[in-house]
Amino acid sequence: MKGRKLLMIPGPIEFDPAVMEAMGAATTSHVAPEFVEVFGQALERMRQVWLAPDGQPFVVAGSGTLAMDMAVANLIEPGDRALVVNTGYFSDRMAAILARYGAEVDHVRAAVGDRPSTEEVEAALGQANYKVMAITHVDTSTAVLADVENWAKLSCQWETLTIVDGVCSVAGEELQQQAWCVDVALTASQKAVGVPPGLALLVAGPRAMETFRRRRRPVANYYADWNSWLPVMEAYEARRTSYFGTPAVNLVAALNVSLGQILAEGLEARFERHRRMSRAVKAAVSALGLGQVPVRDEVAAHTLTAPRYPDGVDSSLLGHVKAAGAILAGGLHPEIKGEYFRIGHMGVTSFGDVLATIGALEQGLMGVGYDFEPGAGLAAAQAFLLD
Ligand code: PMP
Repeated sequence: MKGRKLLMIPGPIEFDPAVMEAMGAATTSHVAPEFVEVFGQALERMRQVWLAPDGQPFVVAGSGTLAMDMAVANLIEPGDRALVVNTGYFSDRMAAILARYGAEVDHVRAAVGDRPSTEEVEAALGQANYKVMAITHVDTSTAVLADVENWAKLSCQWETLTIVDGVCSVAGEELQQQAWCVDVALTASQKAVGVPPGLALLVAGPRAMETFRRRRRPVANYYADWNSWLPVMEAYEARRTSYFGTPAVNLVAALNVSLGQILAEGLEARFERHRRMSRAVKAAVSALGLGQVPVRDEVAAHTLTAPRYPDGVDSSLLGHVKAAGAILAGGLHPEIKGEYFRIGHMGVTSFGDVLATIGALEQGLMGVGYDFEPGAGLAAAQAFLLD
């Protein structure tokens, strides 16, 4: 569409027209039979997308932070010990939420742009009787990818519950909730799940639900209490109605469309498409002479890329890139905020969108007077996309 820019930030992202159509359809009653069917189907599809056949899905109006709040509010009681595997800004947020509900929080950290080794996580888990370990699957502030599979399996051996903040990963990065022994995997609608902002999405496994049922004290958050939401989720899935708070009818309808598209693409194909887009963007960034925040490929996420500004270039680059057609995001991690920017590439983002974004990046770099070989980024990206 002429004049329209590509939204290539790490959420919200570009959305599919069919998803937007569901958003714009006439709002039904939240107890209308057609909505009951849509909500019930969306809950069933979440279980499939999360790869959590035994999981209990929750869909609540709110952002990703509410999903984090909900996980912690229902599992933590004052005095519980919690371990945060800290890879950046959103791990700090998780720690703040854990502390707010009375947990004693320890961190296992790495330098900015890196992640702790599995040995370090294992050693940290052995230091105390942790009730919960929290992992940010993709820390959107650093584009660092956590090793959820290995860390969650360790935590399982210690009988520690694993909460995964998958806000920048679910339906983009490979995440096998049940097989990897992840107890809660949460996200928000506006990222790889592909629905406009407004839904907090969470799947809780059997160990998490059991821990919740055995609580000694009431949940200290009225809105997020699973005692109120569980009967609603169970009812809609059984194609009945139940009320606690009015569901976000249009967003839930859009969610059902998007989850249907995700399952039609196939999860393995979708994860592979994300890996491919990521390799293309990262190859382009390197070919243009820009470094990245993640310190090595192995720790870099596939849902976004965090390039460092080259010498002599600052955030004014982003204005030039926008003028050339692609909206990118600035830095977020407080220690390095002014040193890098972020390119999101998830959800329905196509290979054509990736090339258009790299083209706009090259035009922006030209605009700020950076010296590079025009087309080098495009050629590097294309090599991965054609492969
Ligand atoms: N965790 C991560 C990894 C995120 O990227 C974000 C949002 N960027 C959040 C949590 C918070 O989500 P929200 O902004 O929807 O509250």
